[in-house]
Amino acid sequence: MFDSQLSDDHPHEECGVIGIFAPNEDVARMTFFGLYALQHRGQEAAGMAVADGQTMSAYKGVGLVSQVFTPNAMADLKGHYAIGHTRYSTTGSSSLRNAQPFMIETMHGPLALAHNGNLINSAELRKELMEKGVGFSSSSDTEVMTMMLARNGGLTWEERIRHAMKKWVGAYSLVILTRDCVYAVRDPWGFRPLCIGLLPSGGHAVASETGALQTLGCEAIRDVQPGEVVSLSNNALKVLQAIPPVTPSAMCIFEHIYFARPDQTWDGINVHHVRQRLGEELAREVVNGLGQMADVVIPVPDSSIPAAIGFSHISGIPYNDGFIKNRYVGRTFIEPTDSLRKRGVALKFNVINENVRDKRVMMIDDSIVRGNTTGPLIKLLKNAGASEVHVAITCPPISHSCFMGVDMGKRDDLIAHKRSIDEIREYVRADSLSYLSVDGMMRALNRTEGFCQACFNGQYPVPVDLSNVKTGFEKVTK
Ligand code: SF4
Repeated sequence: MFDSQLSDDHPHEECGVIGIFAPNEDVARMTFFGLYALQHRGQEAAGMAVADGQTMSAYKGVGLVSQVFTPNAMADLKGHYAIGHTRYSTTGSSSLRNAQPFMIETMHGPLALAHNGNLINSAELRKELMEKGVGFSSSSDTEVMTMMLARNGGLTWEERIRHAMKKWVGAYSLVILTRDCVYAVRDPWGFRPLCIGLLPSGGHAVASETGALQTLGCEAIRDVQPGEVVSLSNNALKVLQAIPPVTPSAMCIFEHIYFARPDQTWDGINVHHVRQRLGEELAREVVNGLGQMADVVIPVPDSSIPAAIGFSHISGIPYNDGFIKNRYVGRTFIEPTDSLRKRGVALKFNVINENVRDKRVMMIDDSIVRGNTTGPLIKLLKNAGASEVHVAITCPPISHSCFMGVDMGKRDDLIAHKRSIDEIREYVRADSLSYLSVDGMMRALNRTEGFCQACFNGQYPVPVDLSNVKTGFEKVTK
């Protein structure tokens, strides 16, 4: 995939997971549509595993959900229990061998696992297993987790999962499939979302986002709580608090800022509403500081649209569309020619000239990571006739890497690690540049704690090895 040449300057999400127990239903087809609703969480690979009470089958491939799951690929996936995964690579490169779910045969029957997050201590755990003679076929931390579950002692899968959770450090929202059960597992810090709903025809579904559950018609949706293992194997859920939750929790704040779909509700907070309030808080801070310095507020679509509406509402500056996003060009498998590649963001965004010509524009975006897109977007607006371009960002400067499963690159790649806000403004050639404060961000969430903010302040909720990189296992496995 040639996304790197065409990608926007956002943190990249790690993965989406789904699990379903639905007696008398075509669970593979349900999983397919659930994965479709989670496609935004990962576009590099997709997979699913299905069990019928006795046997298990799996299929995975590189590409979008619709490209991987052809009618032929789905034909053999029969059963009442299923898990699925959409992948953006976090640990390990993006090749097929790292696609999920991982499926193996164990002493206790077949086992498959799909993971959203990143284990901080997977290198040590992997080394321990290798010293005991365990071989690996991939560079993914999810395979380490799968092998640990297969080897753990315990009379039941719940016991084996609980033993493993005591050793796992970091972010994991998991769906685990055995021949007759789906388990939903969330780390004690609660880094990544995971929610469960009741299916209209009986049974339950679990997914990274409530939107996927709504797609399947689920009701009575609740979060899997930090440290819980929930079993989906008959019409009643079995809930086990496997290990104590960490207090306060460390939910990833970037789910609200950028990753999740606006219809996601997590821990009782709706993402669209948060984004609108982020824009409102930003307007209070920016307009208070600088006065009315723009004629039109425009969002960088799509995630900044609610924030721009909120900004406009509080500032009184009219909202309008300025960019039209060609949504699918960044996910093509066709390499652009050199002359097309030189067009950069212009291949992904068109400007509505009439809406910005001779206007002072306030451009709202959700984040600046490396700083390689903001400048070209400003240039597009200026080329279209904007007289001034001011930029306001709905989060504080990102100055630290994420080790919990979000790909932001190394710390040295982050523009806010190397430059002051004024230096960034100069670099992107904005007439002004403002970021939302940490306090403003928390006001928008209506919380004072419970969220990880490490990429803004470097205070990691778990101890991290700053030398750790995404493809750390590649040297071993290539
Ligand atoms: S460091 Fe940032 S991106 Fe990573 S989990 Fe924390 S808030 Fe989310």
